[in-house]
Amino acid sequence: MFMSSYQSLTIDSAAALVKKLGLFDESESLTSNEIGDGNLNYVFHIKGTDNSVIVKQALPYAKVVGESWPLTLERADIENRALRIQGTFSPHYTPKVYYSDKDLAITIMEDLSHLEIARTGLINGQDYPHIARHTGEFIARTLYGTSDFALGPQEKKKLQHTFSNPELCDITEGLVFTDPFFDAETNDFEEALRPEVESLWGDNELKLHAAQLKRLFLTSGDALLHGDLHTGSIFASETETKIIDPEFAFYGPFGFDIAHFTANLLMNALSRAENRREPLYEHVTTVWNVFTQEFTRLWQENNTEAFADTDGYLEWLLDDVFKQATGFMGLEMIRRTIGLAHVKDLDGIEDDTARLQAKRRSLSIGAHFVKERASYSSAEQLVAAFKEAV
Ligand code: ADP
Ligand code: MG
Ligand code: MG
Ligand code: MG
Repeated sequence: MFMSSYQSLTIDSAAALVKKLGLFDESESLTSNEIGDGNLNYVFHIKGTDNSVIVKQALPYAKVVGESWPLTLERADIENRALRIQGTFSPHYTPKVYYSDKDLAITIMEDLSHLEIARTGLINGQDYPHIARHTGEFIARTLYGTSDFALGPQEKKKLQHTFSNPELCDITEGLVFTDPFFDAETNDFEEALRPEVESLWGDNELKLHAAQLKRLFLTSGDALLHGDLHTGSIFASETETKIIDPEFAFYGPFGFDIAHFTANLLMNALSRAENRREPLYEHVTTVWNVFTQEFTRLWQENNTEAFADTDGYLEWLLDDVFKQATGFMGLEMIRRTIGLAHVKDLDGIEDDTARLQAKRRSLSIGAHFVKERASYSSAEQLVAAFKEAV
């Protein structure tokens, strides 16, 4: 093996490593760059004559904050194992993994530079006609395939045990489910929003619903989630979709990933002129319809559980998932507006009045979806309510 104890790579040592591993010819001259725009990790892009690869390395701390925020290297192993599992269920939508090393905290994978990060493209006016169908299939296949409906009880629990991911779940529990509802230091919002934020902190009904959703996140072990499926974790083009960055993967509630995808679509809609929003609304209904169809197909083909054919069970389950997802979607909209990690879709609106209006809408619609999630049972209904409110 090349090196077995951790050291952080440089553009030169990353290039030397991929050569040593035989991914390139000894004689090839390589160009190496660090291209990570994420908050946590290094991403090296290494290019030879005909081929290129990506080397992603975790640092023992969060890159965005620095050494004062230590963070487990274990996340690289989680990401690598999640990518491999996702790749078995959704090979078209997952980057190929060429090599991984737990001690070095690296994953070497397919270079997707011919695609664009969907958040960036959506902000620049791309619509990505297939992104919702692909993402719906990805979520349905990876979640169904790792659930109790596809795996035997022992197999499922053994797999679940290897994805407890405590440190990254801790981040989500704090940043998504807790901090935005209290005057926490991690929060970050424009001073003009203080009245709305203070009224949110004082809204006991909203906090009760946030507490219920947090408990679902803490206690459900439905399936192996991606865990961070926002539009910045999706590479897309007119024809292709690839889902990256599953370092937050863990066994959680079925509705979580689809909620994060749709919340980020709707926040992008808030940043667009009214006559440019329709493609995003279609994505929201498409991802739900495709998820439902694909999950149902897999259930009918594979589910050998005793209750699989019990009338009403699948319909009840899908409705329950829809309602929880509506709540998780609202929470994601709130935390991306006033919590630690914002989205460029909203922060990038240059005009102060327009930006503050979009953020106020994100907060109020988010809170509505959290509180009223039980009254929603279809994506069409959800989109209609959103349109009505904005
Ligand atoms: P982080 O966990 O730090 O957020 P990401 O996995 O999201 O890291 O990657 C950060 C950035 O690096 C991406 O937004 C993208 O620009 C680039 N990147 C990551 N993976 C690939 C890949 N397989 N191919 C090309 N670029 C990539
Ligand atoms: Mg990322
Ligand atoms: Mg990123
Ligand atoms: Mg990440």
